[in-house]
Amino acid sequence: MELLVDSYGRRIKSMRISITDKCNFRCTYCMPAEGLPWLRKAEILSYEEILRIARVAVKMGVEQIRLTGGEPLVRRDLPDLVHQLHTIDGLRSLSLTTNGILLKQQAKALADGGLTRINVSLDSLIREKFAKLTRRDQIERVLEGLAELEKYPSIHPIKINAVAIRDYSEDEVLDFVRFARHKAYVMRWIEFMPLDADQIWRKEDILTGGEIKTIIEAAYGPLVPITTGDPSETARRYTFSDGIGEVGFINPVSEPFCANCDRIRLTADGQLRTCLFATEETDLRAILRSSDDDEVLAATIRQAVWHKELKHYIGDKRFKRANRSMSMIGG
Ligand code: SF4
Repeated sequence: MELLVDSYGRRIKSMRISITDKCNFRCTYCMPAEGLPWLRKAEILSYEEILRIARVAVKMGVEQIRLTGGEPLVRRDLPDLVHQLHTIDGLRSLSLTTNGILLKQQAKALADGGLTRINVSLDSLIREKFAKLTRRDQIERVLEGLAELEKYPSIHPIKINAVAIRDYSEDEVLDFVRFARHKAYVMRWIEFMPLDADQIWRKEDILTGGEIKTIIEAAYGPLVPITTGDPSETARRYTFSDGIGEVGFINPVSEPFCANCDRIRLTADGQLRTCLFATEETDLRAILRSSDDDEVLAATIRQAVWHKELKHYIGDKRFKRANRSMSMIGG
């Protein structure tokens, strides 16, 4: 099949698949304290439906699949889906983003299923701060989940994702660096984006990757850039002069990377999003549940990708909020 390319010549190699809108956290930068009205079971794609879309997408050149939520580990039998995705010919990387509190129970099954990469969200190492931001006093379970994960070297690297928020994250930057270097985790800071359901995001609340880098370099000296040659990589990656550890900065607001974007997203209710900040979607679920065949599915995906958005317009008067908040998209 022909590769998936948009009208700007960007080839699509990465698909993020949200398998549920449900989450067991209530992070202030994402979800209201009371949660959101969950999708009904019938609205959510079955694993067979997800697999059908994944197989068609891989035939069109998608090489990386990332499973997201809500919180993906709350959906039953996830390791089965992981196993079936892992067997798709042509899929090079299968990863997952999780808040980690169910990892201790599921790490082995995910590793056995063929998961190769994982990002664990952890915005603070301080119990009170963690509980305040996530509205859940569960930091111990996340740390236990990480420790359990270390037993399965087939899942590598273990990345820690921290959302960087001004007047919240600064005082722990060096603690996270020490933690990651000591544990051989890869540390990532992600700039706070206007995708929160409460719509309280303000530009001044962003702590930029550049500012965090300055904090680190003041303590460790100049960071050493890591270049991979993959222009669609979202993180600016660095190691330390002693070669121990890796940190990275995902700066969608201060240093947008849309020019080389290779990503599309599938929501838990079967809508294709060609940009994180899309205001429109393409309904794949209707096709899956009709008598249409995979050619129709492929043609619909190709048509949607051709109209992929050039970029987000955060900070620009043309900026429009996405038609969904983060937990309904999956990051
Ligand atoms: S904002 Fe949209 S175009 Fe830009 S990197 Fe994210 S998904 Fe790609």
